[in-house]
Amino acid sequence: SAQSFRQYASASPTAAFAGHKGSNGKYTVTLIPGDGIGPEISESVKDIYAAANVPIEWEEVSVTPVLKGGKTVIPDAAINSVKKNTVALKGPLATPIGKGHVSLNLTLRRTFKLFANVRPCVSIKGFKTPYDNVNTVLIRENTEGEYSGIEHEIVDGVVQSIKLITWDASERVARYAFHYAQASGRKRVTAVHKANIMKMSDGMFLSACRQVSKDFPGIAYDEDLLDRVCLQIVQNPQPYSNRVMVMPNLYGDILSDMCAGLIGGLGLTPSGNIGRDASIFEAVHGSAPDIAGMGLANPTALLLSSLMMLRHMNLNEHAAKIEEAALSTIAEGKMITGDLGGKASTMEYTNAIINKL
Ligand code: NAD
Repeated sequence: SAQSFRQYASASPTAAFAGHKGSNGKYTVTLIPGDGIGPEISESVKDIYAAANVPIEWEEVSVTPVLKGGKTVIPDAAINSVKKNTVALKGPLATPIGKGHVSLNLTLRRTFKLFANVRPCVSIKGFKTPYDNVNTVLIRENTEGEYSGIEHEIVDGVVQSIKLITWDASERVARYAFHYAQASGRKRVTAVHKANIMKMSDGMFLSACRQVSKDFPGIAYDEDLLDRVCLQIVQNPQPYSNRVMVMPNLYGDILSDMCAGLIGGLGLTPSGNIGRDASIFEAVHGSAPDIAGMGLANPTALLLSSLMMLRHMNLNEHAAKIEEAALSTIAEGKMITGDLGGKASTMEYTNAIINKL
């Protein structure tokens, strides 16, 4: 339906799906189950897709790093699978803190130039939270900013970490944000920034957004300070509804977790990493090591991410049917997981959704 399109659309006019149906009438999609709760929630999605007869064949690959020429890299088989299929569904990947191999998430984003991370955050009708009117989409620049990974110790006790902002990446993500707003019927794009302090880097990000906004006269454009948005949105999310917020990398990471808290937590928020040649869909949350392997994880965020993927692939009817089954299961509140206040296991919740298909 139009409403559900607005909620978990991927709207990718600059990054059309380029996969092909096989002779069996199915699309092949790469599945990276990931770490921690990743395999459990991936299993849940696979079960629901099988029950809903979604015309997809999963090509499961591991991204556990391998040694190649003295470097730890993602195995070629995984890279080649995403390249070939042009879409992937990915579970969370644990990243060592402060040392060890580079983030595999970052490597995937760089390898496939996944320039925009789309994070819808929408209240689920019937599921009680302090607010019931959150309906925003965050679009996070996904390739640079504080995540450029350029850090060095200048002298003992002094470390420099470079925040890199380029015109091209800013312009590209801004254009995507306006296209997304247009395609999903949202009336305003807000650029979120700290250009009062980072006058040059965030200043250039804003200039790029302003320039792109001129190409979209039908969509209102404004700018807001990150700290101000944080305060305002937790006090009253309503003014932020029906708009798209676009921002540099780190701000999007943090603000989207905060918004997730407004609608019931990380178990519910999906995302899509959109690139020109491939797109990878994943939950906003991480590997949740505290509950891994216990059958307690909420698979909704990964499931909704997969629905963004189906819409990206134009499989809209399948997406709508599964979305309706999942959201109504949550709204009924009888068979929901512990993070949402229920007692159901991952499998019990999964089966409740399947029973509604
Ligand atoms: P986390 O998102 O894994 O967990 C935060 C809290 O939310 C935990 O208490 C966890 O139990 C809970 N939670 C998260 N998802 C849940 C779900 N589906 N159902 C029920 N409860 C859920 O964040 P963290 O603990 O800071 O990170 C753990 C690891 O995940 C780290 O190695 C981190 O780098 C990685 N991470 C990966 C990604 C990714 O792959 N895109 C994103 C964020 C974090």
